[in-house]
Amino acid sequence: MYTHRRDFIKKVTVAALGAGLMATGTTAVANSVADFNIHSRLKLPKVNVSSTRVIKETVGLRPFRKTGPRIEKQALGSKTIVHNYGHGGSGWSLSWGTALIASELVDQTQEKKIGLMGCGVVGLATARTLQQKGYEVTIYTKDSYPNITSAMATGTWSPTSRLILPQHVTPAFAAMYQKACTHSYRTFQRLLGINQVVDWMDNYSIRSGEQRRGDYSDELRSKLETPEVNFYPKGVPLSRRENPFKFDHVSKSPTTIFNIPSYLKMMRDDFLLAGGKIEFKDFKKPEDVDALPQKCVVNCTGLGSQEIFGDNDLMPVSGQLCFLIPQPELTYRANMGGVYFIPRRDGIMIGGNGIDGNWDTAPDPAVKEKYLTGVEEMMQNLRS
Ligand SMILES: Cc1cc2nc3c(=O)[nH]c(=O)nc-3n(C[C@H](O)[C@H](O)[C@H](O)COP(=O)(O)OP(=O)(O)OC[C@H]3O[C@@H](n4cnc5c(N)ncnc54)[C@H](O)[C@@H]3O)c2cc1C
Repeated sequence: MYTHRRDFIKKVTVAALGAGLMATGTTAVANSVADFNIHSRLKLPKVNVSSTRVIKETVGLRPFRKTGPRIEKQALGSKTIVHNYGHGGSGWSLSWGTALIASELVDQTQEKKIGLMGCGVVGLATARTLQQKGYEVTIYTKDSYPNITSAMATGTWSPTSRLILPQHVTPAFAAMYQKACTHSYRTFQRLLGINQVVDWMDNYSIRSGEQRRGDYSDELRSKLETPEVNFYPKGVPLSRRENPFKFDHVSKSPTTIFNIPSYLKMMRDDFLLAGGKIEFKDFKKPEDVDALPQKCVVNCTGLGSQEIFGDNDLMPVSGQLCFLIPQPELTYRANMGGVYFIPRRDGIMIGGNGIDGNWDTAPDPAVKEKYLTGVEEMMQNLRS
């Protein structure tokens, strides 16, 4: 037995020497594995960019307030209104967090039957949070998927995107943000693995001359984040060997994404399964709200609050998206010069713009052209 083992070792050693590997031993094996990995990383599949592959275009209106989302209680006629609206470009990301804060305001009212206005991502997260606390909730809404802003979003983790102007951040706002952000982040991670409504994906960020405008994110993040509340994964600059693009400055970071259609369907189905009711109703003025049977009403109407409650701090920031035919082999996203693409289940989404104060929801052909050219440039610079 011993002799056989010694023979075996001898044979392996001779074979290794013959292959010229003995001097480096395991290192050589490790290097060849690493080379293989680097090589495979270099070969990313390409987006098939063409105007003939465009399947859908949308323009959504972000509900932006320069002083940040309004989450507070208000006495109105015979009702208590709990407002939860005005999340700008962060409504998906912060939906569970501000839902929790709004539900704590509802807890102060002693009411058990709650009316909730709005069926976007903020309304649905708030309705589910209230149901989980034992409330009986009826949603009243003008529209639902797909005719809501929440259906026209990018769907990435971006809790500081167009959330508030940095000069309006107060200590109370920062504390609210930190609580909302933490609760949202944890809730989304618990949804991982359920029909891919929430997912993680690598993002390649390509630095070019043109930087993204109007996002306020860097300055805002420095005012809102703490070492404990910092859930944006850090980008790692790629070395030349790791870089799948021919551009010099590329960093990579993992990002959380939301698969919007299946996510919103899941939320609505869960709400109905838990006994919730949805009624279609168009509110024009506060008296319409006062006419509801419930004494406590939560307002999640986003931009609609401008007309209903006369909130003139609210303004739209439009964002155009363009979708190409899905390519299931794409498992990464990238951005360069204010244009990004994300391969979602409902199409390869291209976006990046934001126009303050714009109510026009007609897609602009020049924006589509810029998007397609931007992604084409990224693809032409992908190493093959
Ligand atoms: C292009 C784009 C990209 C975005 N990307 C991201 C992102 O990557 N990550 C992120 O976190 N956020 C993103 N956002 C922001 C996010 O989509 C919004 O903050 C969020 O959808 C707001 O949700 P909401 O439920 O408050 O509003 P909405 O989705 O607009 O829902 C409002 C609800 O109220 C109802 N309603 C309104 N008025 C009335 C009325 N008068 N009577 C009755 N019902 C009414 C509506 O019918 C609707 O059901 C993006 C937005 C856009 C446009």
